[in-house]
Amino acid sequence: MASNCDVALAWRGLEALPDGQRQLLSVLVAEAEQQGWVLYLVGGAVRDLLLRPAVPGLGLPDLDLVVEGAAPGAGIQLGERLGRLYPDVHLHSYGTFQTCALTWPADSGLGPLSMDIATARAESYPHPGANPVVRPATLAQDLGRRDFTINAMAVRLTEPRAGTWLDPFGGQQDLERRQLRVLHEHSFADDPSRLYRGARLAARLGLTLEPHTEALWRQTLARNPWQPYLQHRGGAPALQHRLRGEFKYLFQSESWRPALRLLAVWRGLDCLVPDFPWQEAMVTQIATAGRLAQAHPFATETWLLSLAVLLTALPPAQRRGVVTQLDLPPKVGQCLESCDALQRCLQSAGRPSQVVAQLEPLGSETLVLLAATGPPWLRRLIRRYWSTWSQIRPFLTGDDLQALGYRPGPTFRGLLQHLRAATLDGVLRDRPAALAYLQSLDTQHSHQTVSE
Ligand code: ATP
Ligand code: MG
Repeated sequence: MASNCDVALAWRGLEALPDGQRQLLSVLVAEAEQQGWVLYLVGGAVRDLLLRPAVPGLGLPDLDLVVEGAAPGAGIQLGERLGRLYPDVHLHSYGTFQTCALTWPADSGLGPLSMDIATARAESYPHPGANPVVRPATLAQDLGRRDFTINAMAVRLTEPRAGTWLDPFGGQQDLERRQLRVLHEHSFADDPSRLYRGARLAARLGLTLEPHTEALWRQTLARNPWQPYLQHRGGAPALQHRLRGEFKYLFQSESWRPALRLLAVWRGLDCLVPDFPWQEAMVTQIATAGRLAQAHPFATETWLLSLAVLLTALPPAQRRGVVTQLDLPPKVGQCLESCDALQRCLQSAGRPSQVVAQLEPLGSETLVLLAATGPPWLRRLIRRYWSTWSQIRPFLTGDDLQALGYRPGPTFRGLLQHLRAATLDGVLRDRPAALAYLQSLDTQHSHQTVSE
């Protein structure tokens, strides 16, 4: 057995947590023992304790706790106990089971730390990708609803038998073998977002998909049991929400590159579009989009732009389908549509002023998307627009025109636009040339100009 996967070592790891985190746990343990409940540390924290050596004072960023033998409100009760002791904690409860989520800010001396306290529950899925129906259960059943064996382990925190290790599905062995294994045959049909979670975890921890798990994914994918529910907005709200959330976590994670590659190689994107046209070049395009987004900020979240990069590879109808399936903000759909139309227009735009007329009305997200995914000539054009053309102003200003006797109005604006276009196209190189040009325009439009 690998020494870094040793249960006793992991338990010592829990004892080696920083004082603040140990203090937190002991408050919860005391409260649970007083109520006659059994409290467990579960999921990712247990997995991470097994993976890392017991370094004194090294905290965990995320603690998931499960209470057994209590009514659904127990999570809230425990959370509120902490809320009274720690005024800077943010407390939120949700769901039928009133799970309690607590977060401590980075400067709290504990974190940043997030904690989830839930009552042990089992789940059943009315249809593939549905919101699960939950019912009270034992800890063993609670572990049985989880995604992978390595996330289905628990450590008992309350007496008697505090420190008992629960690993009903062989998670410890899978962790040693560095593999992801689902707990049952319907796991992916119930929730395909588990594969996305798997890709993130695998990239972070250097894991592979256990062969039977991979075969299960392929078989489930061949049936595509989620499609009827995903086809319209709100058709499978839980699944749409989960998949969207998984894209967000994936693109925001430090190891998004290997995670995305794994997801693509496992054919995880195919549950959205059969035979998703994945190309390795997309990794570079997403990285480019991220860099450009820093230089040209916009309101849309960057992870949505990363996702939009993936979608540019799809024909418009399929792309619209995914926007609906994932219930993405309309802005993303509009951005993708403008990219198509623009690429066609820009191909025939010869002069800088024509390019500027196309690009200027666009939001930065569309420009970034075009620059990151378009062919080299288009990228050059947009970079030129950003670096030079967008900065160019006509040699005469509105004040100059007014001083020359023009009155503000549509024709006035038109004159300024003409002057700018001529400057952009290199026809005008200085102020005298602009004045002469204005005169020539004025002669052409004298009647309209004077009548304003
Ligand atoms: P991380 O270190 O990224 O937080 P984690 O495993 O702790 O990894 P969480 O999202 O915090 O991930 O979830 C906590 C636990 O809840 C998981 O370890 C897993 O047991 C369970 N879980 C989360 N999402 C799912 C899911 N979609 N299906 C089944 N179990 C899940
Ligand atoms: Mg976690």
